[in-house]
Amino acid sequence: MIAILGAGSLGRLWAASLPSGRVAFIARPAELPGASIRYRFRPFNGPETDIHVPWLTAGDIPEVVLVTTKAGDTFEAIAGVIDRFPRQTPILLFQNGLGSQQRVAARWPEHPVLAASTTEGANRPEPDLLVHAGTGDTWVGPMTESAGHQLNTVVELLNASGLTIHPEQAILQRLWQKLVINAGINPYTALLDCPNGDILASALYQDTIDRLCHELSELMRASGQGEQTPEALRHQIETVARKTARNTSSMRADVLNGRTTEINFINGYLAKLGKDLGIQTPVNQMLTQRVQQLSTH
Ligand code: NAP
Repeated sequence: MIAILGAGSLGRLWAASLPSGRVAFIARPAELPGASIRYRFRPFNGPETDIHVPWLTAGDIPEVVLVTTKAGDTFEAIAGVIDRFPRQTPILLFQNGLGSQQRVAARWPEHPVLAASTTEGANRPEPDLLVHAGTGDTWVGPMTESAGHQLNTVVELLNASGLTIHPEQAILQRLWQKLVINAGINPYTALLDCPNGDILASALYQDTIDRLCHELSELMRASGQGEQTPEALRHQIETVARKTARNTSSMRADVLNGRTTEINFINGYLAKLGKDLGIQTPVNQMLTQRVQQLSTH
């Protein structure tokens, strides 16, 4: 049995992709769950299907727990249910950005804690409809020592989904690569309320991107994430912005839907890291504050 904590877009994608009967959602501690979660699943290719996913019952011991809550909800969500599971149960974190994964690994080091970086895309245009909007790859790797031994088992369990999964020992490095791209695209799309490609010609982007990339380069070097010049980072950010030019970033979507963004785990994480390492990060701070202000009004 594979258990999923967080029945949102990504959780529902995994639940729909894994073999039925092998997957269940985990209810909040105070929640009295109904019979099952039902929704329509529109796959990337092929016809829509109806999905029924049961709730995990008290006697069920999952082989792995997939955590698909937003980064800001993750620690509390796990804290509410982790006592139900044996210590050897692997916990696999799917959050974007950084900060939440390290907090979970530091709090529960006795658990095999793993993290995933995925380029799958899922959304819910209606509450009862899950759309697999884009197929991609998912890399899974260990965040705690005990997780290293469970990596292949977890990857094998996930392979039953038919999605493309890769074991990745250097998962932190991969999460960093995604972080710098997100840091250079997402806040601009939220502040300018535009699709990814449109940020490139804006005054806000043009006035700040070189200084942002300088901050990112310094932070990566100081964190042992390798030497990347600001110019190389800018090139990577702009390549992705052009490739995904018509896409709406998750941060822009969160603002448009009145939801809390994950800015504290993207530019906010980088600003805090700068403070800890004695590196100035005025652009990351400015972007964080301005995006935070968007969600509080
Ligand atoms: P989402 O649709 O908002 O789903 C999060 C779900 O977690 C919601 O259903 C939420 O319920 C639930 N939740 C919150 N607190 C909980 C708790 N204490 N116990 C149980 N469930 C709880 O977000 P998402 O798009 O699936 O994204 C989840 C994470 O995956 C994010 O970090 C995101 O960046 C990352 N990610 C998503 C995608 C994607 O395509 N969607 C791709 C890559 C990475 P309520 O709505 O009732 O609060």
